[in-house]
Amino acid sequence: MLNGDGLQEQLPNMAGSPLTILAIKVDGIEDMYSLHGKGIADSIVWSIAHRLMSRKKPMAFLAHTGLGEFILVTPSAKCKELRGKARPIFELFSTPFVTDLGDVSFKVSVGAAFSEKEGGAATQAVSDAVAAMRIACWEQGNSFQQYDELLGTKLSQQFSIRSQLHKAIENNEFALHLQPKVDLGSGVVNSAEALIRWNSPELGRVSPAEFIPVAESTGDIIPLGRWVLQEAARLVQNPKLPASFSIAVNLSSKQFSDPALLSQLKQIHKRLKGTSRSLELEITESMVMAESADINRTLTKIKAMGFKIALDDFGTGYSSLSYLSRLQADTLKLDKSFIDPIPNDQQHADFVASIIQMVKALKLKLVAEGIESEEQFNWFAAQECDEAQGFFLARPLDFDAFLASLPLGRAQVDIPKPA
Ligand code: C2E
Ligand code: MG
Ligand code: MG
Repeated sequence: MLNGDGLQEQLPNMAGSPLTILAIKVDGIEDMYSLHGKGIADSIVWSIAHRLMSRKKPMAFLAHTGLGEFILVTPSAKCKELRGKARPIFELFSTPFVTDLGDVSFKVSVGAAFSEKEGGAATQAVSDAVAAMRIACWEQGNSFQQYDELLGTKLSQQFSIRSQLHKAIENNEFALHLQPKVDLGSGVVNSAEALIRWNSPELGRVSPAEFIPVAESTGDIIPLGRWVLQEAARLVQNPKLPASFSIAVNLSSKQFSDPALLSQLKQIHKRLKGTSRSLELEITESMVMAESADINRTLTKIKAMGFKIALDDFGTGYSSLSYLSRLQADTLKLDKSFIDPIPNDQQHADFVASIIQMVKALKLKLVAEGIESEEQFNWFAAQECDEAQGFFLARPLDFDAFLASLPLGRAQVDIPKPA
């Protein structure tokens, strides 16, 4: 396998043949380096490279050009639509990787470009494929993007986000919206998830799915994440909220490895001590699956202060449930992709019902996230899932609208009796 310099040296040797270039980004590898260290992360990169090499055609070559970023160059006939070329890559990633951390699945983003000529044109095509891959990364799940001229507009939007973000933090252009979580036993809303919103004077409304990854790459996530925690701690103390209210805050992995996080949480703990209000911290699977001593220590300290931990987007990262029994989480949030096929796909419904039973046996609380229909709501209530969150119940709302929408006592939703 080549590195970035090797790639530049090799490209002219492909002289004369049209080339398909795939830029492949394996999500979560940067987190692996920062959270679990170089040794573990390098060996994971090698197993990924090994799998990519196994499907490589003769005359093609593979380069590792950055943390979990690969370039695959293949001689091929001119092809207008390159999506088919990415399919084998997605297939390669459909089976989890066996690693020192257990079985691990990765989301992968693929950008593609075609070069009819060798040399400089091929170098440009590599840049185009990488640009397309950066756009593909914005999407959830495995994603594909082919380079075209319109991509320039999308990329310049990303650059604008990058250039505006820092100033936006200083100018306080953000707000926290709250989306209620309904207790499926009682119908009461006793908690909500805080979701950040950015209304930029220059860019208009920008989705967190777009600016959070940029904030993570620039480091702006640290001050932004600090603000989110402070603001959530302020809101949760509002006397108009029901007693014992809790707000769930999303933490990014960069924040989680920032030593200042613990001191901030200590201060918040002091402020909330003696009240019946609390914060819950949402983390993702890639942040906790290792038995890493550092991570476990941080989690133990956070939990000792009385903060509850929720595992967000559960089911998207790691296939094995076995590590859950050792995990320090209190709550699992079942990812929307598990909710969508319910109730029409019977086989899938049986599968999710068995996950719910397993989570109950582990004495963890289960939240179904992304409930969009009454049928889905009724199905999860009948399964005695603990909480539901989704557009069927309410969209994320600004704080005043959230207070105004709050049902006092029982929610205005009928909870069906279990079958
Ligand atoms: P998440 O933490 O998994 O949040 C749930 C996302 O699903 C939210 O998107 C929410 O609006 C959306 N959602 C909830 N119910 C439904 C539904 O029924 N249908 C559909 N289609 N969507 C639903 P949002 O607010 O755009 O946030 C996207 C992601 O951005 C979040 O996913 C989270 O990963 C990240 N994020 C949001 N706020 C913060 C924050 O304050 N800090 C950090 N680090 N990340 C944040
Ligand atoms: Mg969340
Ligand atoms: Mg989620």
